[in-house]
Amino acid sequence: EAYTPEKIKQMIKDEDVRFLRLMFTDLLGTVKNVEVPISQLDQLLAGKLMFDGSSIDGFVRIEESDMYLQPDLSTWMVFPWGDEHGKVARLTCSVYTAAGEEFLGDPRNNLMRVLKEMRAMGFSDFNIGPEPEFFLFEMDEKGNPIKKLNDHGSYFDLAPMDLAANIRRDMVLELGRMGFNVEASHHEVAPGQHEIDFEYDNAISSADHIQTFKMVVKTVARRYGLYATFMPKPLNGVNGSGMHMNMSLFDKDGKNAFFAEDGKDQLSQTAYYFLGGLLKHAKALTAVCNPTVNSYKRLVPGFEAPVYIAWSGANRSPMIRVPIARGKGTRLELRSVDPSANPYLAIAAMLEAGLDGIKNKIIPDDPIDRNIYSMDGQELKSDHIEKLPATLHNALVEYEADPLMEKAFGTHIYQNFLDAKKLEWTSYSQNVSQWEQERYFHLL
Ligand code: ADP
Ligand code: MG
Ligand code: MG
Ligand code: MG
Ligand code: MG
Repeated sequence: EAYTPEKIKQMIKDEDVRFLRLMFTDLLGTVKNVEVPISQLDQLLAGKLMFDGSSIDGFVRIEESDMYLQPDLSTWMVFPWGDEHGKVARLTCSVYTAAGEEFLGDPRNNLMRVLKEMRAMGFSDFNIGPEPEFFLFEMDEKGNPIKKLNDHGSYFDLAPMDLAANIRRDMVLELGRMGFNVEASHHEVAPGQHEIDFEYDNAISSADHIQTFKMVVKTVARRYGLYATFMPKPLNGVNGSGMHMNMSLFDKDGKNAFFAEDGKDQLSQTAYYFLGGLLKHAKALTAVCNPTVNSYKRLVPGFEAPVYIAWSGANRSPMIRVPIARGKGTRLELRSVDPSANPYLAIAAMLEAGLDGIKNKIIPDDPIDRNIYSMDGQELKSDHIEKLPATLHNALVEYEADPLMEKAFGTHIYQNFLDAKKLEWTSYSQNVSQWEQERYFHLL
């Protein structure tokens, strides 16, 4: 929806909005909030609202710390929860430098840059439909999560097993009030695990939605004394949380460019090339779609998460699935992505990979419709099936080896992301874990 400054000012009066929460996302995917009283609105609209960028991870050096926030008025939203102090509204912002230029370290600006590249190739939209999963844990008196789940339900269970049904319903209602079109919500396979799916939208809106979604889920959970976590693999021995990404390109007439009535399996050549690009760059993409040490504890056999680089139209185990929907719903589903990913970076990298497939006419290998997990080494080899990187370290090696990543991110983000993730890996690899102590203390 197009909000004008006048319309926004009217809503501020009507709804007694007293604070503005200005949201943007840092390189690690964390939402940053700058909250200002409503008196700052005119400053903000004029693009003159300054903040100190040096306090934000991976943003800037101290000497260039003055940054400006440029609000995207289409993201205007009044939070439904208000009190005697009035209401809070949010605006998602882009970050600008003191010189008035788009700041290249802002993941949202970067995604817009890649989308421009896409439009120059004749497409109008990159559509993203995410399927975020999360766990609900109990909290101690101090508000810290404890490793106790709040229920023992499982996939599609109904009450009374699914004790969290009410909480989820509350989340769905809250999301609805905030303009989300929720398509489905259900209990997931693991105890305490849930999924809420909302309707696909263009790349920028979907990334904004994912960030808002996480905040709403955490906020509602807290109301019930629970802690919602999007950690990819919070528990041993049960499924982890993914965030499947459904994607498609629309052409200039708003038609789905992945659909072709007369194509093989009614998929267009564009869809096959895009798929070829995703497969070709899958290893490097993993560093961005699965950017934490913990992400790789999810990408293991036996828990419905992909391990091998392959695609299929029929079964759900491979990394990329082509759901049966055709026409407007024709899409590719990347199932490796998890919710620890920075959505702006993950979407930019996926798009760049797909566009590379189109530009270079990359033909994907044949689909694998058998169960990959029952194939032996020889079969995997003869079908050219490779594994995804097994650790963050291995994924970073692939990230550095693939020139596509710097194209997808620009030098600033490319380098800062790499540096931050290398530090994360070093910190992990030098830590003596409980597993090691239990395994080796008595043995050695
Ligand atoms: P699954 O069968 O994998 O559980 P869901 O039904 O939970 O899939 O989610 C499918 C997602 O795909 C939804 O977010 C939906 O809006 C989205 N979707 C539908 N059509 C398209 C499209 N053309 N492009 C991108 N996403 C789409
Ligand atoms: Mg789903
Ligand atoms: Mg579903
Ligand atoms: Mg699921
Ligand atoms: Mg799915």
